[in-house]
Amino acid sequence: MSSTQVTADIGSAVAALRAGGVVGMPTETVYGLAACVSDEDAVRRVFTVKDRPPDHPLIVHVSSAEQASEYGHMDARSMALAARFWPGPLTLLVRRRHTVPLAVTGGRETVAVRVPAHPMALELIDRLGEAVVAPSANRFGRVSPTCASHVIDDLDGLIDLVLDGGICPIGVESTIVDCTGVMQVLRPGAVTAAQIEDATSEDTASSSGPARAPGMLASHYAPRARVHLAGSAREAAALAASLAGGPAVRVIGAGVDAGTYAANLYLEMRRADAEGATDIVAVMPEGDGLAAAVRDRLTKSAAERS
Ligand code: AMP
Ligand code: MG
Repeated sequence: MSSTQVTADIGSAVAALRAGGVVGMPTETVYGLAACVSDEDAVRRVFTVKDRPPDHPLIVHVSSAEQASEYGHMDARSMALAARFWPGPLTLLVRRRHTVPLAVTGGRETVAVRVPAHPMALELIDRLGEAVVAPSANRFGRVSPTCASHVIDDLDGLIDLVLDGGICPIGVESTIVDCTGVMQVLRPGAVTAAQIEDATSEDTASSSGPARAPGMLASHYAPRARVHLAGSAREAAALAASLAGGPAVRVIGAGVDAGTYAANLYLEMRRADAEGATDIVAVMPEGDGLAAAVRDRLTKSAAERS
């Protein structure tokens, strides 16, 4: 049985990518599955390994705003967002340059770019000398990985290497903002719409409209256990008691702040699955920023699965 190397040696990760490999990469949000952006075979392998439909575009990870402009058209507004939030958990959707293969963008003329705030990811991209694509390093539709062992749990033997950078401090995926017209938040994350408006002095459109991004499905981020949503810790306890009860039911998110909730969300879901839980009752946190991001992921994890 083949198995995947886990290492903190950045040089080994660079060598694996140069050889056309796919590599688990730490970021401050979740672990990504990296491949060289210009290597179409490696990009195709990312889709195969994840079992991800080819029309679900990948985020391009770069180490600076200047490098982002090699891959996408960064206008003044995008540059203002980059200056304020990069490195950090904000992905900008801009018009594609031809340096980005259509295999990366799911055939679209736009590209999603981000500078991750993780020293090992930044060094990896710098030493490689080109951008990497990096969707979350998990099987399609499942829970994202927030440490190296989660990546191994899902993808051992299927990928070349995991660069071990410890635990992801944020724990949920980046905010995605469409900058190709009136700005619109396509996926909530740690950076809020209010912060984006403040940095650009422009309004964002409501994200409830029909213009959702490709690859954003009703059901996503799903553990094996069935997820139930509760409005408060008290409601969660009552709901848990009304279910089968006992060790097969887990309650998550009671009495924790949004940052802690986000940091532990996927870990708790994976732990519940590993322990054979049948049901997870999740308290829906109140507020914007990470609370809104957690509500978004919980709603999708609780949705009907196809
Ligand atoms: P993930 O791979 O989990 O980080 O999610 C990436 C998501 O970013 C995709 O599923 C899309 O929703 C969005 N995205 C990435 N690239 C594009 C693009 N070119 N156009 C629109 N949405 C994009
Ligand atoms: Mg994902």
